[in-house]
Amino acid sequence: MVETCQFTTNDEKETRALASHIAISLQAGDVIALEGDLGAGKTTFSQGVARGLGIEAPIDSPTFTLIKEYDQGRLPFIHMDVYRLEDGGEELGWEEYFYGNAVALVEWADRIKDWLPERFIHIEIKRVDGDRRMITVTTPIEWKERICGGVEEG
Ligand code: ADP
Ligand code: MG
Repeated sequence: MVETCQFTTNDEKETRALASHIAISLQAGDVIALEGDLGAGKTTFSQGVARGLGIEAPIDSPTFTLIKEYDQGRLPFIHMDVYRLEDGGEELGWEEYFYGNAVALVEWADRIKDWLPERFIHIEIKRVDGDRRMITVTTPIEWKERICGGVEEG
């Protein structure tokens, strides 16, 4: 059983602010599966999550490195972009990332569906027009209040 909450942002600052706000409620072991076309705002959203966790280091796109870890925040933050993952990624050791005490966020997560844990936070970013984005957060029903409760929908 899942529940969704939905937000609209009008520029990248609003997307970062929303993500920072959501990050306040994240817990060790949370996995965020981020979806959206190229340029939708996945990395922008990730930057907001990192800020919300108290990470001040610049968060760039891990398109070529696939995985970057930041340890300066309230929780360790693992930022992945699996767009360029060539094969199934069997050898990458997902357990270490998804079942530890970090918050793991994966851009293009549908490419590694098979490796995601049973419960995760799914976030889809869709371009509406211009700079406007629709951001849909889907969580297991028992997490909805924690993840969406503190953020005003709209
Ligand atoms: P992705 O990681 O999904 O490919 P990026 O976050 O790297 O996307 O890039 C998103 C681009 O869209 C940035 O240039 C950003 O400035 C721009 N942008 C415009 N409006 C928004 C918005 N509302 N939310 C996020 N990014 C936006
Ligand atoms: Mg990106």
